[in-house]
Amino acid sequence: MKEDKKKQLRLREYRGQHVKFRPNDMEQDRVALIPNLEYRPEELNLYSEVDPLHENVPPLRGSNKLGYLLVHHKREVIPEISPTLPALIYMEALQGRVDGKLVKKYSGRRPDPVGLKQDIKEYAASLGFAQCGVTLLDRRFVTMGNDGKFPHNVAVVLGMEMRREFLMQSPNYRLRNYPDYDVYRRASRGTHKLANFIRRQGVSCSARIPFDGAVVYPTHAITAGLGELGAFGGVITPEFGPRQRWGLITVDADLPLDEPRDYGLAELCESCLLCVAKCPAKAIPEKPMWWRGVYKRKINDLKCWAFFTGWHTCAVCINSCPLHRFGPREVLDHYERTGEVLGYEEIMAEKPAFRKTKNTDRLMDLVR
Ligand code: SF4
Ligand code: SF4
Repeated sequence: MKEDKKKQLRLREYRGQHVKFRPNDMEQDRVALIPNLEYRPEELNLYSEVDPLHENVPPLRGSNKLGYLLVHHKREVIPEISPTLPALIYMEALQGRVDGKLVKKYSGRRPDPVGLKQDIKEYAASLGFAQCGVTLLDRRFVTMGNDGKFPHNVAVVLGMEMRREFLMQSPNYRLRNYPDYDVYRRASRGTHKLANFIRRQGVSCSARIPFDGAVVYPTHAITAGLGELGAFGGVITPEFGPRQRWGLITVDADLPLDEPRDYGLAELCESCLLCVAKCPAKAIPEKPMWWRGVYKRKINDLKCWAFFTGWHTCAVCINSCPLHRFGPREVLDHYERTGEVLGYEEIMAEKPAFRKTKNTDRLMDLVR
């Protein structure tokens, strides 16, 4: 009887969760605005309702969460988490209080949304964010149990470049600071600084930093017009191709929204697919498939994680990308002139210098 009650309670909580994942108003469905994306809204809505997204790092889906990661994956996770730790603690424990105090102190300001958006973009650029766009938060892409972390519906999306010289060394994990883990620190500090700037305009907001599984950043970066969906599952932008990390701030103001854009990059992917060919885990499928209502190449994240862990990092998909190697403008110009992907043969012929670990052979057997 007691068990039955517990079960009922869990079910009720679970159903409550579902309701939160419903998009409030389908007229505001910004995924439908993405150029050249095949998409079935009913299917995505249904999946969001019956099987909401989980955290994107497979071990974080377990009950032990951070403890599990720190014990079993310390060599790949600690360098990634540690630069972000102060910002992570600030985000989870302190920013709510800071928000209340600052907004109260500056409550008389409330600037007009157009001017505020301009100020946000200028300040973001001064903090080192090459990309800044505004979209609506799509709660279908907020992961299970994290809805409360997003109190507002307008989202400012921020992109910061990862250092090219570090990514160029992939997959040599023995290099210090590989593959630019410091970007997490730089982008996290910048995101919080920008959030406090917004609060000092008298506007409440809530910041989420990179290395945060609470929301799917790529969807929001794309609907904010900052890039397109790359074949490897991340965002490719006209500034750096696949080489950036994202942060997001939800803001209590009706900022004018940016529109999703067609930069011609996703079209180029179909003639390239170097990331698909070079992925050591064969985690990126050759052909797109229907996945939760979207027609795309769905990464097998368990395969990716196994290799990432086995080699204590990877990022071969990013380093194989000509957009990252030569710059998106050069690659697009070359493609327009010749119909060929710049550097394709050279990158295809490269052999990644993986260091052999005790799991390497077993892992390679799995994907052969
Ligand atoms: S990180 Fe490595 S294993 Fe994962 S998808 Fe990219 S290339 Fe494949
Ligand atoms: S490697 Fe090629 S297919 Fe993959 S994201 Fe870059 S351009 Fe697109």
